[in-house]
Amino acid sequence: MDQLKSLIREVPDFPKPGILFYDITTLLKDAAGLRRVIDGLGSHYQSQKIDVVIGIEARGFIFAPAVAYALNAGFVPVRKPGKLPAATARIEYKLEYGTDALEIHRDAVQPGQNVLIVDDVLATGGTAHAVVDLVRNLGGVVAGLGFVLELDFLGGRAKLPGCDVQALLHY
Ligand code: AMP
Repeated sequence: MDQLKSLIREVPDFPKPGILFYDITTLLKDAAGLRRVIDGLGSHYQSQKIDVVIGIEARGFIFAPAVAYALNAGFVPVRKPGKLPAATARIEYKLEYGTDALEIHRDAVQPGQNVLIVDDVLATGGTAHAVVDLVRNLGGVVAGLGFVLELDFLGGRAKLPGCDVQALLHY
């Protein structure tokens, strides 16, 4: 896993001063690294029946479809407001300053379906928590959440009580 870490570029002061940005594009372009990440995100759920894998816009879209393919599941996008064309369910959540919102098609998850949520980074957990609520509001069952990396010091995991949370790398 240390080798995987070495493939992630750390960019100080992006997108604003004081933020250390974990840039996964350097990992994505490495064939062996990409394979290890997709295999790693899916492997924990291989023995379960996952119906759909959700990717959170935007970087979740890079990983979730490949994980869905590996698990023989479908892929569902959770998008920023105003992007999905049909009837949507919406959730608003708090940011450090102000609020943000995410949407999912109402018919994207059926009641009782097992859902795996995938994103690149678990930071404060606000985004992931909102998506868990979105899935549950539609009657879906959150089988787990998978992240490439988790910023342990931000404590995002605490916002996801009772959820199975897997991260390949920890910082
Ligand atoms: P949060 O809601 O705080 O857990 O933030 C999660 C979202 O913000 C993820 O979708 C990440 O893509 C992005 N994110 C937050 N912090 C970072 C960081 N330091 N480096 C890269 N992406 C980040």
